[in-house]
Amino acid sequence: MNILRDIGLLDRNTFKIGGKTLFYSEPCSGLELKEALDFADHNRLPVFILGKGSNLLISDSGWQGLTINTSPHFSSIRWNDSHVVAEGGATLNTLINQSISFGFSGMEQLSGIPGTVGGAVIMNAGAFDSCVADTFLSADILMPSGEIKTFSLEDAGFGYRTSHFKSNGGVVINASFKFRTQRTSDELKVLQKEILTRRKSKQPIEYPNCGSVFKRPTGNFAGTLIETCGLKGLTCGGMQISEKHANFIVNKGNGKAEEVRVLIRSAQQKVYEHTGIVLEPEVIFIGEFKEPLFEV
Ligand SMILES: Cc1cc2nc3c(=O)[nH]c(=O)nc-3n(C[C@H](O)[C@H](O)[C@H](O)COP(=O)(O)OP(=O)(O)OC[C@H]3O[C@@H](n4cnc5c(N)ncnc54)[C@H](O)[C@@H]3O)c2cc1C
Repeated sequence: MNILRDIGLLDRNTFKIGGKTLFYSEPCSGLELKEALDFADHNRLPVFILGKGSNLLISDSGWQGLTINTSPHFSSIRWNDSHVVAEGGATLNTLINQSISFGFSGMEQLSGIPGTVGGAVIMNAGAFDSCVADTFLSADILMPSGEIKTFSLEDAGFGYRTSHFKSNGGVVINASFKFRTQRTSDELKVLQKEILTRRKSKQPIEYPNCGSVFKRPTGNFAGTLIETCGLKGLTCGGMQISEKHANFIVNKGNGKAEEVRVLIRSAQQKVYEHTGIVLEPEVIFIGEFKEPLFEV
């Protein structure tokens, strides 16, 4: 088992923000994964499982524990007709591209979400009218106790950008999905192209970002609320509320996590003053922050 010390996380997340992790591991096997968890347990270190880092704000002071990155080695995808078992570190877009090439539908609307299968299951990632729960069959989760438990759709507790896995501290080893077969590969490719074009036109993907900063409030859109408060373009240091889409914060260069927190708090406060709605962050905070979130 290879455990490294003082590894920078800035290049391991899509925001390009964050300090170092005290310990870092990229396990190559189930055994190495268990050894890494034992190491953390033995040294009383908190553990953070990293996917592609596309939904994270990592503190400028980093993570004072062990970061386990499953994406380099837990990435196999095994098909059995329209069933698939994908390891937690597999790239979601690779899985979607394969499904489309076989003419299997169900995940095409998630095209362009830049995470892993594990991250997508934890978050119940979704776009347009679709989410991970729509095709999900089951997941094998390595629990903090060391036991591997299989969770079915009924046990997964999927909700809007959430699942039971988000809080149970387990590692998504793999997940299985069932696709539909009523469309051809060519039809699915056309749909995928439309989806990717829509994403490109609406999202500021030319700058490092973490996707939607806030969850969608019931009956409304976070971006619309923030824009109505006149906050598009609001800047703090290297970070800016995107001028293209107000529910995105973009890194214009050397941005810091604390600057993102300032912008998040400003947006929450202004939107609350105008509408009485408290915006809830979708982005996950890793490590410690000085700037608090807004509270009523
Ligand atoms: C440009 C852009 C567009 C986006 N568009 C969308 C969108 O349309 N819809 C949407 O839902 N999201 C979107 N996102 C957010 C993000 O891509 C998703 O939430 C994605 O599912 C996160 O996956 P990840 O591998 O990057 O996870 P990370 O960001 O690395 O981690 C997210 C959470 O999952 C946990 N985790 C990751 N892997 C595992 C594992 N194997 N086992 C246990 N826990 C794990 C982490 O500990 C963390 O709690 C977007 C992000 C960007 C940058």
